[in-house]
Amino acid sequence: DPRLEAISQAIRVVPHFPKQGIMFQDITTLLLDHKAFKHTVDIFVDRYRDMNINVVAGIEARGFMFGPPIALGIGAKFVPLRKPRKLPGEVISEKYVLEYGTDCLELHVGAVQPGERVIVIDDLVATGGTLKAAIRLLERVEAEVVECACVIGVPDVKGQCRFIGKPLYVLVEPR
Ligand code: 5GP
Repeated sequence: DPRLEAISQAIRVVPHFPKQGIMFQDITTLLLDHKAFKHTVDIFVDRYRDMNINVVAGIEARGFMFGPPIALGIGAKFVPLRKPRKLPGEVISEKYVLEYGTDCLELHVGAVQPGERVIVIDDLVATGGTLKAAIRLLERVEAEVVECACVIGVPDVKGQCRFIGKPLYVLVEPR
């Protein structure tokens, strides 16, 4: 698919951000390129439009940039999975382990109904820890997580297994 090359080219790599040694994949430049951004959304919409998806769940913060246009395109609702203390209503929470310390995702109680079919969207998957926390949250409310989808997927490296127990669909590798 020639669109994938345009998407990959539109992602900027920022060396040593946010700290020394990290090659940060910056998707804000993809958002500046309306053709590449549209290709990205179109590929996901084409994939999910006939899969009876009820919910697109986006992970804060960059899942919020791709999730809503995909949800509109496939006729699903958008549900944000947020960092702690951002959602005003009653929430359930899932902690997950990062390289240093832990983080947490929260979901509004009642936003997703039992049996609803969900895809989880984020910009990038590395270890899969963030996606796993999202899946646990959604399964606690008895949703059916059909697939996780990311724009960028870091190839598996030894000791960094990103096995998430669900299908994972990624468009490009890091640049
Ligand atoms: P994981 O939990 O799979 O190890 O890491 C994925 C999470 O880290 C995603 O929420 C993603 O937004 C963030 N992340 C880690 N590294 C990068 C990066 O280089 N670029 C971007 N855009 N996000 C990153």
